[in-house]
Amino acid sequence: MQVSGLDPYHWLTKAVATLERAHWQRSLKQVTSRSGAVVEIGAHNVLNFASNDYLGLAGDPRLVQAATQAMQDYGVGATGSRLLSGHRALHRQLEIGLARWKRTEEALVFSSGYAACLGTVAALVGSRDGIFQDQYNHSCLQQGAKLSQAKVYSYDHNDVQHLQELLQKYRSRHRRCLIATETLFSMDGDCCPLAAILDLAERYDCMVLVDEAHANGVFGQDGAGWVQATGCQGRTLIQVGNLSKALGSMGGYVAGSKVLIEYLRHRAPTWIYSTGLSIPDTAAAAMAVAIVQGEPARQQQLGRNIHDLRQRLTQAGFPCPSGVASPIILLPIRDTATAAAMEPELLAAGLFAAVVRPPTVPTSRLRLSVMSTHTPAQLAAAVEILSDFRSYLA
Ligand SMILES: *Cc1c(COP(=O)(O)O)cnc(C)c1O
Repeated sequence: MQVSGLDPYHWLTKAVATLERAHWQRSLKQVTSRSGAVVEIGAHNVLNFASNDYLGLAGDPRLVQAATQAMQDYGVGATGSRLLSGHRALHRQLEIGLARWKRTEEALVFSSGYAACLGTVAALVGSRDGIFQDQYNHSCLQQGAKLSQAKVYSYDHNDVQHLQELLQKYRSRHRRCLIATETLFSMDGDCCPLAAILDLAERYDCMVLVDEAHANGVFGQDGAGWVQATGCQGRTLIQVGNLSKALGSMGGYVAGSKVLIEYLRHRAPTWIYSTGLSIPDTAAAAMAVAIVQGEPARQQQLGRNIHDLRQRLTQAGFPCPSGVASPIILLPIRDTATAAAMEPELLAAGLFAAVVRPPTVPTSRLRLSVMSTHTPAQLAAAVEILSDFRSYLA
């Protein structure tokens, strides 16, 4: 055989160089302390406005204790798919707890929120079907749509008028149809018009799937999310979310009717062919579901902190978005080159905040995540640091 002398992996070097030129390259920041409102990075303590740990539960001693105890009793790994050796009483308890919290008949726990969305969307529709999705939906919903082989129609962000036009035009071409949206949008900090979407779904005979990843623990009387906050509990829909943001652990779930969950147990590939959620993650998540409902003061404090930070930002002359009081606050950055420089400089100034850039989002933005455990002094300090970065913003 003749040797070509070509390196079949050389394209990787070129691809990475292209990323660098576009200022798309990302680096990892190593956190060397327990999760909290202040974390240690590179031997410095920085204010943490970068995490999804909205209620400060990821470092909560009760979650640590629940995970530790469960590991001592049952070990670490689930050892197999839930359908084989991987099903534990802990999983069932968590699912019962989730269904009660969400006020649905049933719930099913997946090994991540990503897996829950991907597998559920792919299981619900096929090549004869249609998906109507918000243009800014999270990657897991978009990839699930691709995997399903259904025809995908994207509607303008939160635009029910546009959604209706698409339904009017295309609904009749398909057997089943699914409308899919995030509730609290992770990269925009706004919420979907859920009641109007459900009304349209009824009119056009569509299923609705909502991803509550960021809304859990943040909205609703029991912290049960945007579905609860908008009075839509009890309406027929498919509620997906994760256990890894305000719930401080890891894993994903689907909550809905008995028949939906029974179907997914037989048809969702990411549930069937993946190892059950690990023992410590499961136990910690169950503890978090109980804490969120039992300690509404955390959610109330988060609400006050959101209000406080928005007010301070507005007073300091920042273009603070109006609308729903969301813990995700976005400030647009001038351009991607500025964005690339901004993150390390902010960090050196003592503020850990996410700079979100293409290709994750169309335009660069600074993303501040509020926690219930931020003190007023920490909120003030963050705005103080940010005021030196005014010229970086659009
Ligand atoms: C974070 C996120 C997910 C993924 O959840 P993981 O548990 O981290 O896999 C899914 N959907 C949305 C909207 C998210 O923000």
